Amino acid sequence: MLALTSLVFKGYMPRLVRSLLPQSCQLCGAEDVAGPFCAACLADLPWLPNDRCTVCALPLTSGSVCGACLERPPRFDRVDAVFAYRFPVDALVLAYKYGGRLALARGLGELLAQAVARDADAIVAMPLAPARLAGRGFNQAHEIARVVAARAGIPLLASACRKVVDTPPQAALPWKERAKNVRRAFVCDADLTGKRIAVVDDVLTTGATLNELARVLRRAGAAEVVGWVVARTL
Ligand SMILES: [Zn+2]
Ligand SMILES: [Zn+2]
Repeated sequence: MLALTSLVFKGYMPRLVRSLLPQSCQLCGAEDVAGPFCAACLADLPWLPNDRCTVCALPLTSGSVCGACLERPPRFDRVDAVFAYRFPVDALVLAYKYGGRLALARGLGELLAQAVARDADAIVAMPLAPARLAGRGFNQAHEIARVVAARAGIPLLASACRKVVDTPPQAALPWKERAKNVRRAFVCDADLTGKRIAVVDDVLTTGATLNELARVLRRAGAAEVVGWVVARTL
C-alpha cells in the first residue's frame, strides 16, 4: 500500500502540477516547451522510416512485407511503431522502466497516440506477470496505454488479460527460444467478439510476445489485433 501511495505521488501529482506550469523538455531540459519534448529534440529522435513491413514494422528497402512475415504470418494483423529502439529512445525507455522516471509515460504515450491510426475498438496493455509487477511497482505498458486511450478516446480494457506465467525476460533468451518462452503465458477473460483490439507496449523485439497475446485475444473473439508500440528493435 505504501508503494502504491508513493507511486500516486510520484506519478500523478506532478501531472496535475505540470498542467498549470510551463513544461521543460524531458531530454535536454529546455524550458517553456509546448509538449514533453522540445522541437529540436523531437527532430533528432530515431523515427522509424516510412518504408517498413506493413505487418511487423521492420524497415525495408524494397517490397511491403518482410520475408519473415511472408514465410510465417503472425497472429497479429500489423504493428504501428513510432521509433527505432536506438539512442536516445532506448535510454528514455530504460529511465522510464527502471529509473523511476514515471512521468515519461506521458510523453511516450502522447507520441504514440499521434502516430497510430487510432482505428481500434479497445486498447489492451501488454500484461506484466504479478511478480514482475510487484517488483517494478507499475506496468510500463499500462501507464503508456492510459495516455493513448485518453488521447485517442478509445476504452482501455484494464483487466481483460493477465499474464499467468512469469516468463524469463525475452531479451535474455536466444531468438528461437522466445516463442516457446511465452507460450500459454496469457489468459483473457473478456468477450472480445468482433472487436478490433490494439495492444500497447513500450518495445517490440521479435514480436513473439505480441504474437502469443494475439493468439489469446483471437480466441476471445477479437476480429483484429494490432500492436501499438513506442519503439521497435531493428
Ligand atoms: Zn529538448
Ligand atoms: Zn514483417
